[in-house]
Amino acid sequence: TEDMLRQSQKMEAVGQLTGGIAHDFNNLLTVIVANVERARRLVDGDERVEKSLSNAMTGAERAATLTDRLLAFSRRQPLQPAVYDLNIIVTESRDLLEQSLGTGIKLSLMLAPHPMLIETDRNQTENALLNLAINARDAMPVGGQLTISTDETQNKILLSVKDTGEGMSAEVIEHVFEPFFTTKAVGHGTGLGLSQVYGFAKQSGGDVTVDSTVGGGTTVSIIFAIAKSLEGL
Ligand code: ADP
Repeated sequence: TEDMLRQSQKMEAVGQLTGGIAHDFNNLLTVIVANVERARRLVDGDERVEKSLSNAMTGAERAATLTDRLLAFSRRQPLQPAVYDLNIIVTESRDLLEQSLGTGIKLSLMLAPHPMLIETDRNQTENALLNLAINARDAMPVGGQLTISTDETQNKILLSVKDTGEGMSAEVIEHVFEPFFTTKAVGHGTGLGLSQVYGFAKQSGGDVTVDSTVGGGTTVSIIFAIAKSLEGL
């Protein structure tokens, strides 16, 4: 529809803009980091100077994480695709996901009974899964149920992350993929989680969908193309 076209054109424009800024900013960060490192080698001894340089480095590392996420959104982050069974990626992420959820949230996996072959960047896939799980956790402050499922439909492979949390209004849904859009308190959200997932899905030739109602929980699904070859498996 016309609305969807307008939305995708908007995301395209936002992607171009943020990608350009993030790319240049990343180059500047390289200069900053190299010089802080050099200064660190030169100080020898003065604790106050060392402390300042160490703080500068921590700041630069956080800025680098931020630009990475922006580059992922604008699809300027190189992917290293290979063929993987999505079921295996999910299963092997289970421990990490459980740790990130903390107590009070029950995690269930509902995996399709045969291999779900996708051609993708494994790190980015795990990262997307973690982003979605953390959002689900934040939406279930008093606990709940998180279900991660894989399924095959119409020549696509679907990875769904479903929570029983507070859900989203239509207004929030409209903006969730935009970088820096967050409803979380300052210091709790960057508004880059879903942007990163969006960029990754698009760059992988797929898509992301959000199905949510206020009070009714949320399902976020990443759609992948089915891998054609077994190359890399
Ligand atoms: P952040 O988590 O840093 O706010 P995201 O891009 O990951 O950034 O999410 C943007 C916003 O989308 C969140 O602030 C929240 O309002 C909403 N959101 C994302 N996932 C969920 C979810 N599972 N349940 C409810 N709201 C969500």
